[in-house]
Amino acid sequence: MMKDYAIRATGYGGKVRLLACTTTQLMNELQKRHGTSATVSAALGRTVSIGAMMGLMHKGREKLTLQVHGDGPAGRIIVDADANGNVRGYVTNPQVDFPPNEHGKLDVKRAVGTTGMIYVVKDIGMKEPYQGSSQIVSGEIGEDFTYYFTQSEQTPSAVGVGVIVDKDLSIKASGGFIIQLFPGTEEHVITELEQKITGLGNVSAKIEQGYTPEELAAELVDTLEILEKKELNFSCQCNHDRIVNVIKKLGLAEVQSILEKEQQSEVTCNFCNEKYIVEKHELEQISKELEGTE
Ligand SMILES: [Zn+2]
Repeated sequence: MMKDYAIRATGYGGKVRLLACTTTQLMNELQKRHGTSATVSAALGRTVSIGAMMGLMHKGREKLTLQVHGDGPAGRIIVDADANGNVRGYVTNPQVDFPPNEHGKLDVKRAVGTTGMIYVVKDIGMKEPYQGSSQIVSGEIGEDFTYYFTQSEQTPSAVGVGVIVDKDLSIKASGGFIIQLFPGTEEHVITELEQKITGLGNVSAKIEQGYTPEELAAELVDTLEILEKKELNFSCQCNHDRIVNVIKKLGLAEVQSILEKEQQSEVTCNFCNEKYIVEKHELEQISKELEGTE
């Protein structure tokens, strides 16, 4: 299977910005790690594609987190991405599932909910991270981020993302595009773009047919110029030391209570579902260190 990647490009002689990606393999990895249902895979996959593409809008060590806090039964969707194509993500209740909606599509809106907030946190190396937010307007994710870009970042955008899930819950296709208008884009370009977006049809169906990000982009804009291509990979930065630090932050009373009750602590990383065991002697060490500071 072809590796996932994203491209950053311009169209119409630099008048619009375009990003496109495939995230099929990434989503297969996340589906296996988290055991997501078909409906949740669709919700997570759409968010993962948007996060991966937004990562390419940044550079160097910059990182961003997308949080979809809907009022639906799936709970929260959290996706981390960076400028180097590293992506991870999870959903609070991965097994929530529904029958297809009236259009025969996975009922993402029902799992996510139709009210709530979207948060975008960008760590751009400053003391305080940038945080943008907007309301959930549909629960279908693509429309919600279209609204986010327009409202919170004042950038008129079109977002098309989709996921196709197989009967065995593996991911057949995942990916999408983001088109953003630079200030002063002429009316005729906007009209043409709208026609091309409609003409493209279902983006996940195109990816299932084998369309690459470049081929998707070529269908969406004239005079396509590709500026960057980045491989996308699942990556979680958790490790034993980080988990020990998380336990330290619980404080002395809590650590002593764990020692009394369970002797050791089992911690699961939300992002990758890896389990870490922090052993008795480590907990005792933490407890000693905390006694010294509290
Ligand atoms: Zn992890």
